[in-house]
Amino acid sequence: MAEKVRVRFAPSPTGLLHLGGARTALFNWLYARHNKGTFILRIEDTDRTRSTEEYIDAIIEGMRWLGLDWDEGPYRQTDRFSIYKSYADKLLREGKAYYCYCSPEELEKRRQEALAQGRPPKYDGRCRNLKEPVPGRVAAVRFKMPQEGETVVDDLIKGKVVFDNAQLDDLIIIRSDRTPTYNFVVVVDDVDMEITHVIRGDDHLNNTPKQIHIYRALGYRIPAFAHLPMILGPDKTRLSKRHGATSVTSYKEMGYLSDAFVNYIVRLGWAHGDQEIFTRDELIEYFSLEDVGKSAAIFNPEKLLWLNSQYIINSTAERLGELVMPFLLKQGIIKEGQILDREWLSKGIKTLKERSRALVELANSLRYYISEDIGIDPKAKEKFLNKKSLPYLIDVKEALKRLDNFVAQEIEKAFMTLVEKHNTKLGNIAQPVRVAITGKTETPGIFEVLEIVGKEKVIKRLEKAIKTIG
Ligand code: GLU
Repeated sequence: MAEKVRVRFAPSPTGLLHLGGARTALFNWLYARHNKGTFILRIEDTDRTRSTEEYIDAIIEGMRWLGLDWDEGPYRQTDRFSIYKSYADKLLREGKAYYCYCSPEELEKRRQEALAQGRPPKYDGRCRNLKEPVPGRVAAVRFKMPQEGETVVDDLIKGKVVFDNAQLDDLIIIRSDRTPTYNFVVVVDDVDMEITHVIRGDDHLNNTPKQIHIYRALGYRIPAFAHLPMILGPDKTRLSKRHGATSVTSYKEMGYLSDAFVNYIVRLGWAHGDQEIFTRDELIEYFSLEDVGKSAAIFNPEKLLWLNSQYIINSTAERLGELVMPFLLKQGIIKEGQILDREWLSKGIKTLKERSRALVELANSLRYYISEDIGIDPKAKEKFLNKKSLPYLIDVKEALKRLDNFVAQEIEKAFMTLVEKHNTKLGNIAQPVRVAITGKTETPGIFEVLEIVGKEKVIKRLEKAIKTIG
């Protein structure tokens, strides 16, 4: 039987969960779910100066929002220092690591000298063969890297990548303050957690030969590696804050649907024919590392927005009603604890789904169904709520007042009677009414809108508009 897949997402909590991290998490999750394996969350917080609890919470919240559930963890590296120490002790005992007494100042001076002489600024190995400790100095622990030959990383995405061992430094695995370093703890954890596949961004490709030697020194089998291609901004430079929002949290707050976001980021590097829209079950069924491309992926915010609008269109009004609630609250359209008739809300949402690309937009349009505080666009007011439209508004108000059955069809009939009476176009009557009722010049069909707003509120808003003109 094939070995059981065990993969991990190992974020450093030194920032929010960003697009690249979310994609790494997603690919690991999909690989685990496709292979019925185990997905582990490991927080790499050994850099105590830059890691914060807030970032850990934000990463976990982002993972939850994306629906990427983990089977083990979250482990935290700061809880595992004794494990790293025992592995470092083992390497020291076996002569595969050594104490280094060089001070940071000495190292920096030698580095500068090497650079000035055009030599690679690597550690010169002077403590490699020390027999005695240097008095008055606190030691760091360095790993003995092979200095000859080559290391081949046989990457599932990049293919074979060859590194010259002469370039590799005797890297510090435990600093003089006793804290372990990234390249060491990552290997210890991957060994200890029995990781079978390391799937991560290709910014770590250069670390991989170093890590391979640590696996070997510890006597463990080397896992499979899959380094994901970079994500670039639309201008083909590395994706960063300059390209706008990059954190998962900001997409959530802008009203992107989690499934749409997942569907978008999966396509940053992975393809399945030319299919664009996938259900989660399809993603799990189809995902494979063979279909991850080698070249950099380009982030296209317009496509993400388009995908989001497709997901909104394909969601039921009831589901959108749930999703839009926090936005209604945040945008001040409903108050905390306010209860809306869900069936009525769904009717309103049905009219707006096709025209809302994100939940913020949907909430914004729902404002004129729900709230009296509609805020009329000043330009629309000037153009449509004026002396010319006043007689129409008055007549519409009177006609609608007489209507007992306040439904779109009857409302339409009332409007058509007035079109005839005034011998004008429907738009000349409908547009001022639209502005008076919704504050906007573009809305779904006006008769339907009026039905949903409801007779009482419609009459009130018409009276208000008439008052402001007259
Ligand atoms: N903690 C590393 C990072 O956030 C990832 C390490 C790894 O996946 O091996 O970049």
